[in-house]
Amino acid sequence: MMSGNPLLRVQDLHVEFKTRRGQAPVLNGVDFEIRSGETLCVVGESGCGKSMTALALLRLIPSPPGRISGGRVMFQGEDLVQATDARMREVRGNRISMIFQEPMTSLNPVFTVGDQIGESLRLHAGMNAQAARERAIEMLRQVGIPAPERRVDEYPHQLSGGMRQRVMIAMALACRPDILIADEPTTALDVTVQAQIFDLLRELQREKGTAIMLITHDMGAVAEMADRVMVMYAGRVIEQGSTEQVLSQPGHPYTRGLIDCLPELGSSAAFGDGARPELAEIAGVVPSIWELGRGCAFRERCPHAMARCAAEAPPMFALEGPAEGEGTGAPHGAACWLHVEAPRARMKEAA
Ligand code: SF4
Repeated sequence: MMSGNPLLRVQDLHVEFKTRRGQAPVLNGVDFEIRSGETLCVVGESGCGKSMTALALLRLIPSPPGRISGGRVMFQGEDLVQATDARMREVRGNRISMIFQEPMTSLNPVFTVGDQIGESLRLHAGMNAQAARERAIEMLRQVGIPAPERRVDEYPHQLSGGMRQRVMIAMALACRPDILIADEPTTALDVTVQAQIFDLLRELQREKGTAIMLITHDMGAVAEMADRVMVMYAGRVIEQGSTEQVLSQPGHPYTRGLIDCLPELGSSAAFGDGARPELAEIAGVVPSIWELGRGCAFRERCPHAMARCAAEAPPMFALEGPAEGEGTGAPHGAACWLHVEAPRARMKEAA
């Protein structure tokens, strides 16, 4: 069940990387919130800042060359940007867990999967070796690994790619975290196992009120899992709102384009002009960091671009309040100048 107060509040988060050409801004003022029991889906093309945002929350950005150059990550009243390394080790894997995209880079090849799942239980939950092993077997069973009593003593290279991914999920869920960040967690899995994993995540959420931040390319997974959706482009949040608001009334041409990539979700109602891109993909590519300039980062690909779009980056405009039953959820907002020009706009900047 969702609660009204944010568990995590990210404010004006900036990340930059030092390169030979200078400081490269990869996150440019990211703002969002997550509440207990809520699933926030983060969508956008590769390189838009989704995974970088997740890494920044856990202070896992490789430093140097990367660094958080501004903003706050408030977790239950504590700013994790300012937390000590020791405090972050307590938070990671215990209060906030992450399922990474690449299981082989996250699993240690010289320890059994049982040891790796049990490690956080011994460290954070104070379990002895026997209790941790039993819990590891139970977690392997829950993520759908057959013969978990045998698999618990195997090493990562003895498992298939799909099984390794499920081990990662078991590790992330073992301590029943307050927040679970899942970066494309089911990409390598077949549809049946994917459904099983989503069921498991929902069960965890029901039981413990875990907040889930699900990073995905898959708009089908968004429609199935998300309470709220956040769309990123070129290191910024360009739209967010309830799933219903964002999927049925997208406020940004980029979101419209993502939805039109999915025939079953696309419709021609957005923007009130009946226009719908003919191509089932968004033409063009995300601009490089060095090409962003001052204006809207989407302008080279946008069918609605106007003079103002090249001159000034649009702020986030509030389009509607929280959907019914969403408590104090952030309003539906989109960062697009169309909401100044179009009659649908409310001309009100989001808080
Ligand atoms: Fe398109 Fe302009 Fe809106 Fe950017 S601000 S999405 S270029 S209309």
